[in-house]
Amino acid sequence: MLDFRKITAQSALYNFHAHTPYCDGHAPMEDFVKEAIGQRFTHFGFSPHSPLQFESSCNMSRESVLQYFVEVNRLKSLYSNKINLYASMEIDYTDEFGPSNEYFAELPLDYRIGSVHFIPSFVDATQYVDIDGRPEGFIEKMHIYFHDDIEAVIRSFYAQSLKMVEAGGFDIIGHFDKIGFNAEAFKAGITRNEWYDKLVLQLFEAIMDSRYVIEVNTKAWEQRRRFYPDVKFFHLLKKYDCTVLVNSDAHYPDRINSGRMEAMRLLG
Ligand SMILES: [Zn+2]
Ligand SMILES: [Zn+2]
Repeated sequence: MLDFRKITAQSALYNFHAHTPYCDGHAPMEDFVKEAIGQRFTHFGFSPHSPLQFESSCNMSRESVLQYFVEVNRLKSLYSNKINLYASMEIDYTDEFGPSNEYFAELPLDYRIGSVHFIPSFVDATQYVDIDGRPEGFIEKMHIYFHDDIEAVIRSFYAQSLKMVEAGGFDIIGHFDKIGFNAEAFKAGITRNEWYDKLVLQLFEAIMDSRYVIEVNTKAWEQRRRFYPDVKFFHLLKKYDCTVLVNSDAHYPDRINSGRMEAMRLLG
């Protein structure tokens, strides 16, 4: 595995979470690389949403995986004297398919991010619902798929996350409390309950048991003033001496450094 601790000690200008046109990114991969070089980044990793066992407009198809590696390798050799580039994936976990699946073990990835974006529908448990999108869409899905039971949705998200952590097969845990944002949009104050903090803590301890690298995801900072994990959990990162990466989860080249410096300042 890459020595993330060493990399972050040597350079503040890195980003290991960025999307591509093979998933839901909005620019050619080379544009991200040029922007990163222009901003004097030393390390940059691509992490398209992984293929799933079902169709999803945000995730790359299995058919485009080879093309993705061809493009990363082309960029790696073209810009090798200017920046360190890496091939990764943000791998989704569902009960049937996830980072621990041998499909991913066999791919030539430099590192792997494990993230939960889908939970099973309460109407039909074989159907997975994306609970990661914008709050307006999430609220609508709460009616359609989850009987408006926000506590059960939160519990399901943390249960899925815990199962992913226990199954393994990845290096970095992506935005580990992300459900908190949409849950607050549905019911303000819901994440200020003691049971909520307990769920986060239980997951955090499982993450620490396996010493995964933790991402502080800054994608939403500029627009929503929210980091994932929330700033209120930053003290845990220090207390447990975690290896932390501050990633902007960029879908556009001009967002590669978005919110990162603010997070780093708060992390001290
Ligand atoms: Zn994600
Ligand atoms: Zn992402």
